[in-house]
Formats: sequence, C-alpha cells, structure tokens
Amino acid sequence: MELQQAIYSHLPHQRRQSSGGWLSFNCPCCVDNGEARNDTRQRGGIRSDNESVSYHCFNCGFTASHKSGRVLNKKMLVLLRNLGMPESDIKRLQLDAIRQKELADGPTLFISKTQVTRIPIFKEVELPEGSELLEDILRSDNPDERAISAAKYLLDRGIYDFVDTYWSPHPIFRQRVIFPFYQGERIVGYSGRDFTGKNEAKYMSKTPKDFLYNIDAIKRNRKYLIVTEGTIDAACLDAVAIMSNEASDTQIDYINQFKGEVIVCPDRDKAGEKLIKQAIENGWSVSFPRWEEDLKDAGDAIQRYGKLYTLKSVIDGSISNSTKINVKMRLR
Ligand SMILES: [Zn+2]
Repeated sequence: MELQQAIYSHLPHQRRQSSGGWLSFNCPCCVDNGEARNDTRQRGGIRSDNESVSYHCFNCGFTASHKSGRVLNKKMLVLLRNLGMPESDIKRLQLDAIRQKELADGPTLFISKTQVTRIPIFKEVELPEGSELLEDILRSDNPDERAISAAKYLLDRGIYDFVDTYWSPHPIFRQRVIFPFYQGERIVGYSGRDFTGKNEAKYMSKTPKDFLYNIDAIKRNRKYLIVTEGTIDAACLDAVAIMSNEASDTQIDYINQFKGEVIVCPDRDKAGEKLIKQAIENGWSVSFPRWEEDLKDAGDAIQRYGKLYTLKSVIDGSISNSTKINVKMRLR
C-alpha cells in the first residue's frame, strides 16, 4: 500500500515503537484540536497492516484511518497535511485511492469518479412560481406593495444597483428577495432572502450540491478570485460564495481551478475561522480588512462604505503568509 509508505516517510524523526504494533511520535494535530500547545510526549500513534492504516492521538483524541479500496477521507487528509506532506503528493495519493476503488467497484464508477474535480454543468431549475425581475415589476403600472418592500430592502443595504433580483407572489416567497444562481445564461438554483426579519428561515434556497454562487468567476482570467460566505457579499463584489461557513471538499477543488490569487473574505465571527483554516490548507490568501468593529461581513461594509471602497479594502487587507494569517485570526 503506497499510502503507508508515504505516511511513514513523513513521520517526525523522533519516534518509538510501542506495544501492540503502534509507532509513536509527536501528534501534529493537537493544536488544531484545541490543545494549548504542540504534543511533545509522543502521544500520537500509527499502526498499519496490508489492508489498513490507523492513527490515534491520546492527547487531543484525533483519529484517522484508511482502508484499501476506499477514497481517502477528510480526517486522513487532515493528518497528511499536518504531517507536512506536499499538496501534490496528497492529490496523487487520492487519485491512486480513487483508482483502486474504481478497480474494486467496476467500470461504471471509473468514468464518473475520474471527473470528480471538473466543474459540472448544473441542472437548470425554474424560479419560484410567478417570479419576475424586480426591476420589471417596479416599472409596471401598479407594482405589488411587497415587491416595493423588497426593493427598499436592497436599497437600504446599498446593493440594489449591483444585482438582478426577482420577486414572486408565491406565499413562501412573497416576503423574500430572490437571488438567481447562474451558470452561463442558465438559472441553476436560487436563494430567497427574507426582507422582513420576521420569518424563521432567513433563506429559502434551492442549491445544487457543491455549487458556488457566481461559479463562472472561477473560469475567468483575472488576478483575484474573492471567496465569501454569503450570497449578497458575493453578488456585490463579483466574488464566489460558498453559501456556508465551511467549503465542501468539492467546492475547494473547484476554487483551486482558478488560475490567479484566491482571497478569502471570511465573516468576522467565530465560525469564520473554519474558512480561514481551509484557506491556510489550500494556500489561499485571507483578507482582514480595516473595517469598523461592528461590521460583521462584506455586506455590512458595502452598506456603510459602498461597493468600491469595500472591494479595495478586501484586496488591500489580504495576507498570503500562513503564519501571519494564523496570528491575525487569533487577534480577531
Ligand atoms: Zn494530538
């Protein structure tokens, strides 16, 4: 099993053979898992046989394992990265693992799985019943009051001019602004944002699996690709949004197809740290813009400073050095 050899060649030099076939060394994951300092007592251990490899840390409790014929799971990838294995080697091991799995599964899966990182053509969807461009509704003779409230919400947030949005009289959507998700000219999903602040669900969305808002931006030939958590932030900054506080593995693969510099602009809350850690793992830059304390995300900044200043502050505030990113993250 090539994975085992690859792992053993990246283990720290200081190690000892323990009982039960475990090889012990300092765990490289303790700090990530909330320990105050790095392991110095060789509490991490690895054990393998022909078919599998398992890792366990007695300090932070982190575990990871892999069995032949499966793809490398998330925790195993974390372990490999923390052991300092280069991203290119990890990718190669993952491809090997996928190939092994396909050989085990038979020929059909082989075809679908090898395309795992290519951005697919997402399926076209219909917007909610009766949806019309908000702009067209407002131009009509007698626009619905609720459509006017939707427009007011966008104006108040300073984003009316930057995004095409829809409104629908459908009971589930009439108190929402509908942001269409495009791929090319096709609508492949949407998100309905509550504009009253009274609905329990802030968003009612139809999102294809692993889709990123404004996904076409990844293919563009540009210097920067800004990645945000929220749709509205992305809509205004022509960024892509992961529409969550953590990117999926597949979203990460899509983002990594961008040719220029990726700049993550995380929300300024505790949950934003997840995306920052993913940025460090993938060699992306992270932006810590100089905004006033009370602003939580790019959308708030646009509301206060306008689009251009916000965009400039995101680019000016970006850092590519992972050590500095770590320090900044802790100072937030
Ligand atoms: Zn540990």
